[in-house]
Amino acid sequence: MNLKNKQIAIVGGGPSGLTLARLLQIKGANVKLYERDFDQNARLIGSPLDLHEESGLEAIRKADLLESFKKNFRPGADRMLILDEQAKIFFSDHETKPNEDFGSAHFRPEIDRGPLRNMLLESLQSGTVVWDSHFISMEKQNEGWLLHFKNGSSVAADIVIAADGANSKIRPYITNIKSFYSGVTMLEGNLYDAKIAAPHICRLLNGGKIMGFGNKKNILMGQKGNDEIGFYASFKADERWAVNNSLNYSDKTQMLEWFKKEYSEWSTVWYELFENASAPFIPRPIYCMPLDQTWDALPNATMIGDAAHVMPPFAGEGANMAMLDALELSECLTSEKFTTAHEAISLFEVNMRKRAAIAAKESLDNGERMHSENALNEMLNFFERFDEARM
Ligand SMILES: Cc1cc2nc3c(=O)[nH]c(=O)nc-3n(C[C@H](O)[C@H](O)[C@H](O)COP(=O)(O)OP(=O)(O)OC[C@H]3O[C@@H](n4cnc5c(N)ncnc54)[C@H](O)[C@@H]3O)c2cc1C
Repeated sequence: MNLKNKQIAIVGGGPSGLTLARLLQIKGANVKLYERDFDQNARLIGSPLDLHEESGLEAIRKADLLESFKKNFRPGADRMLILDEQAKIFFSDHETKPNEDFGSAHFRPEIDRGPLRNMLLESLQSGTVVWDSHFISMEKQNEGWLLHFKNGSSVAADIVIAADGANSKIRPYITNIKSFYSGVTMLEGNLYDAKIAAPHICRLLNGGKIMGFGNKKNILMGQKGNDEIGFYASFKADERWAVNNSLNYSDKTQMLEWFKKEYSEWSTVWYELFENASAPFIPRPIYCMPLDQTWDALPNATMIGDAAHVMPPFAGEGANMAMLDALELSECLTSEKFTTAHEAISLFEVNMRKRAAIAAKESLDNGERMHSENALNEMLNFFERFDEARM
């Protein structure tokens, strides 16, 4: 398909949008990316991402960014401990994990969201990203669209790609199918200067990841760069728990009291997290798109990443699927097999929905397992099977 005279607008500068912009530019397409963040220095929150060989890393490789990724990933951050609520260690691969490298099917290198974003941004032609562009609406104009932003500006585009995450404002122009609540809410916290703020947890973590299971609740955490630790308290709750409770997420004393009460069977070892986290905590009700979702492809708009198929984070597939979407869409849009964008988008969406549904099912199943009565044993079996497969 000839993209030479087409202007492509990508909305959203997360892993999916930035990867797509890079991949399309490599093929000579005219791309602008509109991002609501004020500028590149906006602080990115969220856990580090582990990229998988066949999806996230494949997109990085095709974007010609593997060498840059190797400079930015965090060796050893994929090592894992599984603990019970008393912080007793039941599984550790810190000593036993084979030294895998890029190209090995089981190697899942971790990278912080900030360095991943910067690396992708630096790979783009200058002026590609238009910051402070909060999309609010669009309307049909000729064969394409006229997009409107909160700052009052409007731009025309022949093809619009929604990469604006789980609460996509573009998705409703494509389908009215909505996500459903998974039953799990995660409370996100972050520790700065972790070696001083949480010395015991830091020693335990040892630069890797921890999963703690007890009483149908979890604590999940991972080492980030700059001596930071990101952590989540994850539990089953009503969909509106985050707004219906009376917690002040900026009040650390109140949050610690909440933790002591709700995680009453858990050891005091975990208190360090809540005592020393930076406020505010962020409640995240976890959503998933229906696994059987389908819609008729539009000739000039599509969506990728969480906008298309948000899923729970319990299989570490969200960002990987998002980046694989970017790869597959860029290949469809630039393939000589198709004469129109409509054909390219149709085939891309059929394959994307099928692939994302498999990942979403795995994520939902893992979420159930991790919040079950027998979560510790279930997860130990799961990781032991994974370890055997690696041998
Ligand atoms: C608690 C939690 C933990 C997770 N852990 C992992 C993990 O370990 N591994 C993994 O693979 N995935 C994980 N995920 C999932 C992962 O974060 C997402 O799948 C991934 O970020 C999706 O990328 P994206 O580019 O589609 O969307 P996003 O990362 O959400 O990016 C969307 C971008 O669009 C911008 N934007 C939004 N609205 C607008 C608008 N109206 N106008 C302009 N710009 C807009 C945003 O500012 C943002 O930059 C986790 C998710 C959660 C909630």
